[in-house]
Amino acid sequence: MPDSQTFDAVVLGAGPGGYVAAIRLAQLGKSVALIEEKYWGGVCLNVGCIPTKALLKNAEVASLVTTEAAHYGIGGEITVDYSAAFNRSRQVSEGRVKGIHYLTKKNGITEFEGRGTFLSANSISVATASGDVVINFTNAIIAAGASPRQIPGIAFTERVVNYEQQILSQELPKSIVIVGAGPIGVEFAFVMSSYGTEVTIVEAQDRALPLEDADTSKEIAKLLRSKKINLLTGASLAGIDETTDAVTVNLNLANGEAKQLVAEKAMIAIGFGANVTGYGLENTGVELAPNKTIQVNSHLQTNVSSIYAIGDVTGKMQLAHVAEHQGVVAAETIAGAEPAGIDDYRAMPRAIFTTPQVASFGPTEEQARAENAELLVSKFSMVANGKAHALGVPAGFVKLIADAGTRKLIGAHIVAADASELIAELTLASSAGVSIDDMNHNVHIHPTLSEGIQEAIHGLVGEMINA
Ligand SMILES: Cc1cc2nc3c(=O)[nH]c(=O)nc-3n(C[C@H](O)[C@H](O)[C@H](O)COP(=O)(O)OP(=O)(O)OC[C@H]3O[C@@H](n4cnc5c(N)ncnc54)[C@H](O)[C@@H]3O)c2cc1C
Repeated sequence: MPDSQTFDAVVLGAGPGGYVAAIRLAQLGKSVALIEEKYWGGVCLNVGCIPTKALLKNAEVASLVTTEAAHYGIGGEITVDYSAAFNRSRQVSEGRVKGIHYLTKKNGITEFEGRGTFLSANSISVATASGDVVINFTNAIIAAGASPRQIPGIAFTERVVNYEQQILSQELPKSIVIVGAGPIGVEFAFVMSSYGTEVTIVEAQDRALPLEDADTSKEIAKLLRSKKINLLTGASLAGIDETTDAVTVNLNLANGEAKQLVAEKAMIAIGFGANVTGYGLENTGVELAPNKTIQVNSHLQTNVSSIYAIGDVTGKMQLAHVAEHQGVVAAETIAGAEPAGIDDYRAMPRAIFTTPQVASFGPTEEQARAENAELLVSKFSMVANGKAHALGVPAGFVKLIADAGTRKLIGAHIVAADASELIAELTLASSAGVSIDDMNHNVHIHPTLSEGIQEAIHGLVGEMINA
């Protein structure tokens, strides 16, 4: 007979969704079991958000001391070593993972390491190193994450890789074709090209970052060109042929022609599918949405009232901070704290950590025009921002979209140094319903990048100063 234990709540998966939900449940007085089979801290801390940001920092420095050396008065023979960047990214990741165990211990959460498989809507079995454990629970939160999508007929190999294989590789190829110009494709392109890899990104849509505002895509295309990254849009993947030392990527172009690209490696970055198989979901009665994600309501509850799902497995917006917020809402709902539900995922901020960065929330201008009768749109060029010049990143813009009737902000699209840090002021103003007329009187420190926001708000009410 396997060991059997009982908890108020079980959380399956210790990524940013799961570990945050477990902590919030424990803070609210629940006994909590947290189950993880591989990555404490999930994709984000181990092979996603955190190590990529460490790599991007090294890449920025590498660019600075090579292509921009003269500009900063750096001379002599300079070499940049990707293995040092790799080692730093692993150290940063490992440190953050230790922090997760510290937090679970501090909050009295019981960790179970091993694969969890639901036996019913009230019990789950965990295959730990010391044998199977059956956990009985009142509530469960599924935070099982997502896995990279693959193109049918193409397997991941040593040369045709996904993000995880690439980020865990200490070496960079001399040349690579990245399939997919979304955030992950673009971030990896930045890292690799900064260390001299010849990068081509191919994208089936007609622009890079196709889910972002069209102006953002244009700015990113410029940036990619300046980094000598080739961008081929309107190109869909027909297949990949592999030899012992190269890959040939076969493409169908929008004009009907075929094209072949030869490189040392190919990386597929075409998005993620929710993890919904292989852990007994069928034993719980939990239903899937048509797009094969776990269907949840605004409080993250599935059709089985005792079971919740959060994070990438819900496919709402596959970002760490969204998973964390969903985790808090699910935990508080279970504990009877009656939090506000999440109805509008488009209002959540999103970012891409290139130099300059991209950050946005709300609809693109095109979407907003299709949805709103009257809009106010203002765009301030960061070329007119003093701090952007002082930082050596005088590029990008702040574009704000407001409803002309309510005079409230409905969206923002920023390309600027540290854009990911700038956006929070705008999401707060939008969610709190602050009017653009009130925002117009909010004084920003000089010289700061956030003056770009101030200028764009001036533009919304009619009077930009530095433009
Ligand atoms: C390269 C890359 C860069 C990214 N950068 C950013 C970024 O900068 N900002 C951002 O917001 N997001 C970023 N993301 C997305 C972010 O990593 C995810 O949105 C986030 O990790 C989702 O959290 P989660 O808790 O839903 O799932 P995950 O982090 O995927 O965690 C799920 C966990 O569940 C475990 N698990 C699954 N099934 C079982 C089972 N049956 N038994 C036991 N354990 C199980 C898995 O091992 C995993 O550890 C990035 C992703 C990638 C790939």
